[in-house]
Order: sequence, then structure tokens, then C-alpha cells
Amino acid sequence: MLEKELVIIGGGPAGYAAGLYAARADINAVLIERGMPGGQAASTEWIENYPGFPGGIGGLDLALKMDEQARSFGLEIMNADVEKLERQGDEFIVYTAQEPVKAKAVILATGAKPQFLGVEGESKFHGRGVSYCATCDGAFFRDKTVAVVGGGDAAVEEAIFLTKFARKVYIIHRRGELRATKLIQKRAMANEKIEFLWFSVVDRVLGEDKVEAVRIKDVRTEAMQDVPVDGVFVYVGTRANSDLVQDLVETDARGYIAANDKMETGVPGLYVAGDIRQKPLRQVVTAVADGAVAAMEVEKYLASREE
Ligand SMILES: Cc1cc2nc3c(=O)[nH]c(=O)nc-3n(C[C@H](O)[C@H](O)[C@H](O)COP(=O)(O)OP(=O)(O)OC[C@H]3O[C@@H](n4cnc5c(N)ncnc54)[C@H](O)[C@@H]3O)c2cc1C
Repeated sequence: MLEKELVIIGGGPAGYAAGLYAARADINAVLIERGMPGGQAASTEWIENYPGFPGGIGGLDLALKMDEQARSFGLEIMNADVEKLERQGDEFIVYTAQEPVKAKAVILATGAKPQFLGVEGESKFHGRGVSYCATCDGAFFRDKTVAVVGGGDAAVEEAIFLTKFARKVYIIHRRGELRATKLIQKRAMANEKIEFLWFSVVDRVLGEDKVEAVRIKDVRTEAMQDVPVDGVFVYVGTRANSDLVQDLVETDARGYIAANDKMETGVPGLYVAGDIRQKPLRQVVTAVADGAVAAMEVEKYLASREE
């Protein structure tokens, strides 16, 4: 079994910040990521609210820079899916398809995933017309009509991005006004390709072999309407990737974990950072802050164990 002082699970912005701080503090750490570096941030076309990049930076570009920076301080990075996390005495055992890793401390930075609509047709067309990532799939909808479901920042930003390809983009939102930041709202309102379908929820996704329409319901009148579209992009919130610790800590209804301002969970040695945490703002800037705090607290925790 491999032995480490710290295992960081997840290589999104929170995990990379934790890794950078841990490596610079000379903590014997490994970061385990199952996919590409950068998590949700890497799947975002353009990030213009992360300080230090006037004019913005591509999400993938930012992720690759985080990876390069952490590696430059010697952070070990393992590409694997963490399947199980076990507490044994005051240590943790982290299981992947490779050799298990024993660790004194764990920073869980596994982030969040999109919440599904849970309507008929959604799973049938998942990956074949129903998508949760405009950056990944937007280019398939050149000169087509798509619907974006949601009214927050992610929904509206991605709707604007989709107008690069699509002929028309509907934004389907259950309320009569958006939740998105005012600047983003203004951009969407000024975009001639975007049409808003207010007070509407998706009832089902329709089609034989491909998406042909969405049936929407007016939440005020219950009236149904079929809107012809070629694709549906869903941004109706997120759920935390916290299954690994469901027996160790409590979560809220959407899987988010409470931590104090030191990122401690109540289980000694187990820290959380980034989007997985109960917090008022889930962004890159807050994820990296959490990661830095968690790593510095791990350093103190490890020192206290040696006293
Ligand atoms: C469409 C969209 C647009 C956005 N736009 C912006 C923006 O403009 N500005 C901004 O600041 N923020 C934006 N965000 C939010 C931002 O991307 C997140 O707040 C940030 O990525 C959270 O970082 P994180 O490290 O906590 O989690 P994540 O980015 O979710 O990363 C978690 C990582 O953990 C890995 N992982 C999960 N489980 C396991 C496991 N069992 N084993 C191994 N690895 C695992 C995942 O593969 C992933 O790489 C956007 C998000 C979305 C979805």
C-alpha cells in the first residue's frame, strides 16, 4: 500500500490550489483526478471573473496552467477514479483501481455535477441531443435551434455562447426574471438570437431517433406547448459529488457538506474544498480559496499529530 501524508481527491480548481499549497509546504501529497484537469472550470468556454486575467481566459487554458503550476512545485498527480474512501483508526484508505493509498489526511475536492431535469426523454437523448455542457457539444448545433433550461449565470452564459453556433436559442425559465448577474442578463437580452420562454418548465423532451421538440408547461396556466428544437442544454443547478463520504459526514439534500472556515468536516483529518461544500458562491475564485485554506490546515493538523 502506498503511504502519503495527504490525498487530495479531485483535480478541479479547489484540488489544484490545495495541491499547490501542499507541495510548497513540503507535504507528501498526491492529487487523484479521474478525468481531465480543471473539473467544471475546464468545461467552461471562457472565464472572465477570475482575477489576474483582464479580458478573460479559456476554462481549459486556466486548468492547464493550474496543472503546470502545481507540478512545477513537485505535486504528484495520479489519474484514477477514487472508488472508496475508508476510515481506519486515525488514517484513511483511498481505493482506486490501482494500489490503495493510506493517508493521514484527505481533502475532498470532488466538486459537483449537473442536476438532471428528471423528465421523460431526458435520459433517452442524453449525449444525443440533451447536453449539460455547451462548450463540449455546442459546435454540433451549427445553424440549429436549441433550448437552454435555467436562469442562473451558467444557463445564461452558456446560452450566449451557443449563439456562436445555433441559429436560435430559447432560454426556458420557470420564473419571469433571471437569476443571472446583471451584466450577463443585459448581454443575453441584447442578443437577437435569444428568445425567452418565461414562466415555463420542461415537461418532456420529444423525438423519435433525435430530439425534435421540448414540451413546455406554463407554470401559471398549466398550458402545454411543443417548441421545435434540435437540442436541449440543461443548467438547472448542481448536486455535490459526495457519495464517497456518505457514511462519514452528513450532507444536505443535494449532497453538499458543511465545513467550518478551516474547511474541517468534523472528522479529524477530513477536509472539504470547493463546490462540494455548503457555501453561498460556487466559483473558481472561491474554490481556489477553499483549497488553499484546507492545505494550510492540513499542514497544522499533520504537525499536531507529531507533537
Ligand atoms: C457551465 C459552467 C460555467 C461556469 N462559469 C464560471 C465562470 O465563468 N467563472 C467562475 O468562476 N466559475 C464558473 N463556473 C463554476 C466553476 O467551474 C466551479 O465553481 C469550479 O470548477 C469548482 O471547482 P472544484 O474544484 O470545487 O470542483 P470541480 O470543478 O467540479 O472539480 C472536481 C473534480 O473532481 C473530480 N472527481 C470527482 N469525483 C472523483 C473521484 N471519485 N475520483 C477522482 N476524481 C474525482 C472531477 O473529475 C473534477 O475534475 C462555471 C460552472 C459551469 C458548470
